[in-house]
Amino acid sequence: MSNLISFAIPTWDIPSLAVRGESTRFPIRRIFCVGRNYVEHQKEMGGDGREQPFFFAKAAHDALSVAEGAPGKVHYPPKTADYHWETEMVVALGQGGRRIAVEAAAAHVWGYAVGLDMTRRDLQQVGKDKGRPWTFGKDFDQAAPIGALTPAAKIGHAAKAQLTLKVNGQVKQDSNIDQMIWSVPEQIAFLSQHYTLEAGDLIMTGTPAGVGAAKVGDELVASIGGLVELRVNIVAPL
Ligand code: MN
Repeated sequence: MSNLISFAIPTWDIPSLAVRGESTRFPIRRIFCVGRNYVEHQKEMGGDGREQPFFFAKAAHDALSVAEGAPGKVHYPPKTADYHWETEMVVALGQGGRRIAVEAAAAHVWGYAVGLDMTRRDLQQVGKDKGRPWTFGKDFDQAAPIGALTPAAKIGHAAKAQLTLKVNGQVKQDSNIDQMIWSVPEQIAFLSQHYTLEAGDLIMTGTPAGVGAAKVGDELVASIGGLVELRVNIVAPL
């Protein structure tokens, strides 16, 4: 059907992620992100450790696919002086649905990757202070560097894996995905109550404590046990 449509302007490539050890790519539809999903991060952001998690979104075109081996180049974004890293496990859905049960949710996952929910913290804070959307704080060019996906068919659905971020060789984040307040199946079930989830949707599953500001010249190396390491260099603004 789509090859019969004639568009008024040239179209663009479908955003996509690299897949571990394969030339096939995984197409991205939407990027959902959960906020404050680790107790220690909730506390460092001013929460009391008991708050309910919630979601925001990034545009699919914000994703920067980083291939295995070579570091991704991320341009320092405009209009911020407090550009934060947040290391997160990324879940890629291979199957959508509505009102998915927690017990059935894992079967909808196609694969897992390591991602960075990059944040203009100062602009996010303006949103918080004024009761405005977080869009400018969370949704900007290259706001979601994501490493190669590892198919669940190869590794299953881990509930426990060490998560670390090193910045210029120094450990900044060190936790375990078993510290999530809402598990991956619970996040999928929750989102599917509010949206018709679709194949190609990504979920960034929250960051542990240890967020901080990156600057031009920094090397970020994010890893989660069993998944492809994500390496990113922060380079000069566009
Ligand atoms: Mn986050």
